[in-house]
Amino acid sequence: MQIKRLRLTGFKSFVDPADLRIEPGLTGIVGPNGCGKSNLLEALRWAMGENSAKSLRGGGMEDVIFAGTQTRPARNFAEVSILGEQDDDEELEVVRRIERGTGSAYRINGRDVRAKDVALLFADAATGAHSPALVSQGRISAVIAAKPAERRAMLEEAAGIAGLHVRRRDAEAK
Ligand code: ATP
Ligand code: MG
Repeated sequence: MQIKRLRLTGFKSFVDPADLRIEPGLTGIVGPNGCGKSNLLEALRWAMGENSAKSLRGGGMEDVIFAGTQTRPARNFAEVSILGEQDDDEELEVVRRIERGTGSAYRINGRDVRAKDVALLFADAATGAHSPALVSQGRISAVIAAKPAERRAMLEEAAGIAGLHVRRRDAEAK
């Protein structure tokens, strides 16, 4: 899957709707410290289903919602949309939204889906929230210090078989 556009609304420092277009080839994001570069990568991981507040540098899940500044009030929701193009040229939009007090909701092409459907979609595309293709600040040293089981999970994501484990756990639970 080729990701073509990331759209953020009320996510962390991106209070106003912001589009990041991703063209084929290399995309560079440059800017001063604290301008939101890491927040963009976190938005991508969050929309793919990341549920660890810690790895999103927050204390709780609602910390991804714009918390307000001296001049602007806080928001009540955050929404991130990933527009992708699949190998068959079909466009695919995945949206995750969180509202204060009500938790997260996911949509694929406008249809309400479960978190698991989104996890499976990206696991099969080998680009999940924990994909080794997404390297956050400080992550390299974390990879070096990883336990064998954690390293195996990274390799499985890279090999595109992580989705099989989700399905197996599902089958075993039935
Ligand atoms: P560096 O170059 O230092 O790595 P960066 O460009 O990666 O910086 P980020 O870490 O993405 O910057 O952005 C940090 C900014 O996002 C801080 O100014 C922080 O206050 C702001 N921020 C984070 N969460 C929220 C939130 N929930 N509401 C408003 N602002 C937020
Ligand atoms: Mg950063």
